[in-house]
Amino acid sequence: MKKNRTAIFFVIVLLVISLLSCSIKWAARAADKLPKETALHKTYNYEGRVIIIGAGASGLAAAKVLEQTNVDYLILEATNRYGGRLKKDTTLADFPIDIGAEWVHSAPIVLNVLKGKKGKQIDEELIPYKLENTASWDGEKYKINPKWENNAMYNFLPESKFKNSTWYDYVDKNIAQTVKHKIKYNSPVTEINYSADKVIIKTENGENYEADKVLVTVSIGILKSNYINFIPVLNLEKKKVIEEITFHKGFKVALKFSEKFYPDFVNCKVKNGEKGFYDIAFGKETNTNILGFLCTGDETNKYYALNSEQKIIDALIEELDKIFKGKASTTYTGEYIIENWGKHKYTQGTWTQAFQENKSQLSVLNQSIENKVYFAGEIYDPYRQMGVPGAILSGYYTVDKLLIDAK
Ligand SMILES: Cc1cc2nc3c(=O)[nH]c(=O)nc-3n(C[C@H](O)[C@H](O)[C@H](O)COP(=O)(O)OP(=O)(O)OC[C@H]3O[C@@H](n4cnc5c(N)ncnc54)[C@H](O)[C@@H]3O)c2cc1C
Repeated sequence: MKKNRTAIFFVIVLLVISLLSCSIKWAARAADKLPKETALHKTYNYEGRVIIIGAGASGLAAAKVLEQTNVDYLILEATNRYGGRLKKDTTLADFPIDIGAEWVHSAPIVLNVLKGKKGKQIDEELIPYKLENTASWDGEKYKINPKWENNAMYNFLPESKFKNSTWYDYVDKNIAQTVKHKIKYNSPVTEINYSADKVIIKTENGENYEADKVLVTVSIGILKSNYINFIPVLNLEKKKVIEEITFHKGFKVALKFSEKFYPDFVNCKVKNGEKGFYDIAFGKETNTNILGFLCTGDETNKYYALNSEQKIIDALIEELDKIFKGKASTTYTGEYIIENWGKHKYTQGTWTQAFQENKSQLSVLNQSIENKVYFAGEIYDPYRQMGVPGAILSGYYTVDKLLIDAK
């Protein structure tokens, strides 16, 4: 009897510890962890030349600080557009669809912090992501989740979405517009040589650029792929952390239907990563029925093995038919968009979750090299926010360090 009690006691302790550690992780992203002010509110006196590699949210944010500080800088972007993992589609529905980042995972006040606005009044119209109808699917069984579970989820993680806008629009309007004239497109950087006083940067097109300091904002997937050759090579400790950070492959799909036969969200059981169908039009003022599908992790390989976009779409319709008893194929309009982030040459994956990674590893990752080479992006986020907020804050944080560090 005593043995039983001890066992129960330990089980309870373990449960409490795991619950607590979970909430600490989520709480790390809460509003009170946000910085009171960022580099946008400071003045600097730096006279060197800076090159930013990558025009995603992080690189654009860093550039915004350099622009307002009148520093000589240039952004080298591999593709022919800015935004990186922020992208929108305006062709499938009568509202813009985020085909990269979509949810504001943090408290809405983060939107003020990111654009340097003081006060609590938010300019953006948001949809609280408080779901009423959700379900789970394990490949065989479809289970409707109880209301209390939906409420508990929202209380624990109160997310939101933009109402008539997107993450892309937010960054475009508040950050990119002031710096886009400094972007050199179609300039994939293949080499960063910091062995001499000046840093020499080479692109795939054979162009050379010189700078006093360089800020690398490419995804961890690009660093993992060794597409960029560092001279001298990165130290072993940093290389090991880059290898170990989780960065899942994955893709996103939006499918159009003539009827809404699905709930707000269907969570599909997977070994790792995420898989789910969700109502993209949730909370929007529209009659268009758009169902989203997001898949990351090992499950992605199942779809990649099909080797064609059309076959992936067919497989999804088939899967939906299995869940919703033939409703998908009879109401599918044949219109879709698909964005395969895991196969993008200059992304190589979906997102990292700094809050889940080891803190000491993150600080190794964060270290600049010889006050010449700096790193920013979602994974370098010192405030352990998630996704876009993390990427932007890391841009501000790192450029602050770069402008202060003596050469
Ligand atoms: C499908 C999907 C859904 C997501 N959902 C959310 C969400 O709901 N909420 C959220 O907050 N976040 C979400 N995220 C994550 C979010 O999009 C990213 O965290 C954020 O956009 C990363 O910004 P970044 O500037 O760090 O990197 P990136 O956006 O990857 O920017 C890096 C830039 O560098 C360029 N580049 C790469 N290699 C080179 C090179 N060699 N030379 C020059 N340029 C180069 C790239 O083209 C890119 O423009 C999602 C991401 C994906 C893919």
